[in-house]
Amino acid sequence: MNPKIIIDLNKFTDNLDYIGKKMKAKGLTLTHITKVYAADPNIVKVADENKYVDYLGDARIENIRNYPQVSKPKILIRIPMHSEIEDVIRYADISFNSEISTIRFLNNEAKRQKKIHKVVLMVDLGDLREGYFDVKELHKAVAEILTMTNIQLFGLAVNLTCFGGVIPDKGILQKLVDYKNSIESSYGLSLSMISGGNSSSLYLLDKDGIPEGINNLRLGEAIVIGKETAFGQFYDEMHHDVFTLSAELVEIKEKPSVPIGKIGMDAFGQKPVFVDKGQMLRGIVAIGRQDIDHLGLVPIDKRIEIVGASSDHLILDLTKCKKDYKVGDSVRFYMNYSALLRAFTSKYVNRTYIQQQYNMRNFFYKKGDRPIVLCHH
Ligand SMILES: *Cc1c(COP(=O)(O)O)cnc(C)c1O
Repeated sequence: MNPKIIIDLNKFTDNLDYIGKKMKAKGLTLTHITKVYAADPNIVKVADENKYVDYLGDARIENIRNYPQVSKPKILIRIPMHSEIEDVIRYADISFNSEISTIRFLNNEAKRQKKIHKVVLMVDLGDLREGYFDVKELHKAVAEILTMTNIQLFGLAVNLTCFGGVIPDKGILQKLVDYKNSIESSYGLSLSMISGGNSSSLYLLDKDGIPEGINNLRLGEAIVIGKETAFGQFYDEMHHDVFTLSAELVEIKEKPSVPIGKIGMDAFGQKPVFVDKGQMLRGIVAIGRQDIDHLGLVPIDKRIEIVGASSDHLILDLTKCKKDYKVGDSVRFYMNYSALLRAFTSKYVNRTYIQQQYNMRNFFYKKGDRPIVLCHH
């Protein structure tokens, strides 16, 4: 039933293979981040079975709790809340942390559950989201963790280009390696994971820009959309339509392009502005802002234009279409990161899984003919 996300599992596998091979060639492990598709169990299963995936990660413990039976270690990548400690220990093998008070709770709960929980410390290298900013505080945390009975210090991680938009480079990542070296030599230990960022660090792989010592990246968007996110470049060798959206036309009528009457606020408290394009063939598909970010949708039929959206309706301009659309027809869209996130989160959007055979070179997009995808986190 519409609306639905059409999920091509073979294309997803191709993308994992493509990135995974690249990473292995440079000696990096791959943490695949499942949050963009809300850890859909069918997709997680494919990722778990992929030989290039070393870890699975998500920002939400509910998603990790709902993983199907998986063989790869599970990482909670959002620093845990005190109120979810029990679930973190129960469902995640590793968690990212930046507060010693939280790590103390993790230690106590791990003791209670008779587990050893692995902790990766987040370091803030200037993006100003999460992580230790002060080196002394970081060292103090390490020293205390080493006294804990049920916590294992597993590594360090940095996150960039998420809040501050800072683009990773060799110099920034070298700082993380310097932290690693100083911790290892001060405390006589060896850290297993030094994670150099998300899909925005991927471009550095191609330029030999990842310094020695970084041994992991955490990738979500790059794999599902087929692009790096520092500059928004698409990889020609990857699929950009692993996920597409199908929504159904419930009305098609010729109407003016400008509303009639005095214009006040729309349903979202904004005063809309209209361009008079004369009479228009307008279509309404049954999906709305509750389910998608309409600004992140691109119709596959390039002759369709998106006019706007309310909570439950997406209004299309079908005037230029060659296809004679009828009520009941499905319209297909590409989705950017933000549209994907919301579509997978909405309980009103169904999912279908396909495993199409296709020619690797047979893409929907030609160069220069791709949806404009904004950077979203
Ligand atoms: C979301 C997230 C990622 C993955 O980001 P992508 O851009 O989707 O690759 C990695 N690390 C952290 C901490 C995140 O929150």
